[in-house]
Amino acid sequence: MNKVAIVTGGTRGIGEAISVALNEMGYTVAANYAGNEEKAQAFSDRTGIASFKWDVGDHQACMDGCARVSEFLGPVDIIVNNAGITRDGVLFKMSFDDWNEVMRINLGGCFNMAKAAFGGMRERGWGRIVNIGSVNGQSGQYGQVNYAAAKSGIHGFTKALAQEGAKYGVTVNAIAPGYIDTDMVAAVPPMVLDKIVAKIPVGRLGQAEEIARGVAFLCSDNAAFITGSTLSINGGQHMY
Ligand code: NDP
Repeated sequence: MNKVAIVTGGTRGIGEAISVALNEMGYTVAANYAGNEEKAQAFSDRTGIASFKWDVGDHQACMDGCARVSEFLGPVDIIVNNAGITRDGVLFKMSFDDWNEVMRINLGGCFNMAKAAFGGMRERGWGRIVNIGSVNGQSGQYGQVNYAAAKSGIHGFTKALAQEGAKYGVTVNAIAPGYIDTDMVAAVPPMVLDKIVAKIPVGRLGQAEEIARGVAFLCSDNAAFITGSTLSINGGQHMY
């Protein structure tokens, strides 16, 4: 049976690799994005995957976006909550807006998208939700109280929703990536990044495709018995 997947932030970085991997599995993919039209258009031209713009931090926009995807492509069976931002700074300097915006998008986005699609998945007796957390949500990170709290929240959200979905065939899992070579990491100052890479046992940044392969597995029928789980893909940076 054909499945329809929404990948939030699915037009570049890790999300792009996830959109492509799910598309290669034969799923119909809707790649969501926030506003970078140029990258979204180039992505759709390159891959043939449809892109849809809305802000995952806006509850109503998520309800409307999910309805729009259902109308064009069919009922939504898979949500990958990948969209995320950073607004780094030590607490001393972090504004309330920096805190709020990261919580609104990174954590609020997961709630909004799950709210939009979970009911339909439950009714049809099959669903997959994969939330992209972070190694920094597991271990904490200097200068990221907002990001670490939101990502840590994602891991709790995953375990709670997994309990609600289990008897309806809806699995809910998280992936906690380590440092991956994308625009987000390109924004980290080179000297800081060198120190981070020095602490990664495999000695390099990860590639977006290495996260996407994990997501693809969790979205497959082969992963039906895995729910409430967090898969760490971080080159050995954090083990527990
Ligand atoms: P990028 O910054 O490269 O891409 C972010 C994507 O999210 C873009 O497609 C962007 O859309 C989209 N996006 C941002 N805000 C919103 C919003 N409000 N609504 C909808 N879409 C939005 O990020 P990465 O690929 O590096 O990261 C992807 C995910 O992985 C994030 O959740 C991040 O926190 C997580 N992660 C990343 C790590 C890394 O090392 N890169 C490590 C651990 C976790 P647009 O193009 O329109 O701006």
